[in-house]
Amino acid sequence: MKYQYSYSRIKQYLQCPLSFKLQYIDKLPIPKSKALLVGSCVHQILEQIVKSLITSGSIPEIFMLNLIDDNGLPFQPDVVEEATMLWDKYKVSNLQIIKLHEIASVEAEFAIDHNFKQVHWLDKNVFFRAKIDRIDENEDILNIIDYKTGYNEPDIFQAFVYAWLLSKIRDLSNTKIEITFDNIRTLKHTKYIVSDGNICDVENFIFKTVALIETDDKFEAVPNENCSFCHFYNDCPKMQRAISNVNTDINITSQELAEKAGELLYMAEIWVSKCKDKLKKWVDENGCVSISTGTYQFTTCQNTIIDTEKFIQRCHENHINPNPMLNIDKAKLKQKQFSHIHELVKDLISIEDGARIFKLLKA
Ligand code: SF4
Repeated sequence: MKYQYSYSRIKQYLQCPLSFKLQYIDKLPIPKSKALLVGSCVHQILEQIVKSLITSGSIPEIFMLNLIDDNGLPFQPDVVEEATMLWDKYKVSNLQIIKLHEIASVEAEFAIDHNFKQVHWLDKNVFFRAKIDRIDENEDILNIIDYKTGYNEPDIFQAFVYAWLLSKIRDLSNTKIEITFDNIRTLKHTKYIVSDGNICDVENFIFKTVALIETDDKFEAVPNENCSFCHFYNDCPKMQRAISNVNTDINITSQELAEKAGELLYMAEIWVSKCKDKLKKWVDENGCVSISTGTYQFTTCQNTIIDTEKFIQRCHENHINPNPMLNIDKAKLKQKQFSHIHELVKDLISIEDGARIFKLLKA
């Protein structure tokens, strides 16, 4: 085997082979976002608290825990603060339902070589790895628990991959395997039951994907919905090409050209949003910018917030249909229509700062 694998590596390759190559083969450094750091900090809080509960039956204060990032340094205070807030919310409803006598392992590292023999996590012959947040076990049920801290829906493929890996390490033929995704942020629990058929299917899928990766000599960039979060955006040839290919005189005459244009547009939109963020930062630090004959600056626009319930009631009293005026979130009114009824509802309005917009200051 040329490479080592895990659920995240397989998933990343399937999303975009180039990002897999840059991260896991070329090993380009990856700055961690605050969201990732908070996730990692919450995992450490849970690990240390559950371990303390098992050994001493007590819950230590957060400040007594040893919370460190990947570089061995303490997490920044704002990261610990957010992680603590999530933990505080989670513990209210979840702590009492953790059955200590069922906990078999916490943050356990599992690794196998290509003969499916269990090996050390750092062994050079590792074929596949998984770090499992918690495993609860009673006589005939094995429950794999994975903590989530984001808003994404859990991925059932991850559940099957974990179950598959454990089935390689120990005999699970008479065991009912469950996996629970425990979201610390949304407090949502999602449980899947894993069957022998699932394990068999996922094994075939893993082998097929691994064969694909091992023989890939191109590692093409495949634009996808995660491009705007991709750490390699600046090194991505597809993204650079999208911008240098911008052609305003575009003529779409076939399905093929339409799809090409769609792909370019998609990538250009990501570029625009990234560029805006960087421009905002520059303008904040350096003042306005001059483009052509105009001078531009970012200014905060205002959101008009309205008491929706009273607004609807008042519209009905005055025989006005409120529906066309309401946005999907039912909180902001469409400005144009709203100006006609401003007098009617002006006492229901409050103003708050909205998004920052790039605005012409003077021509
Ligand atoms: S920006 Fe998108 S296409 Fe480019 S490497 Fe990243 S994920 Fe792949």
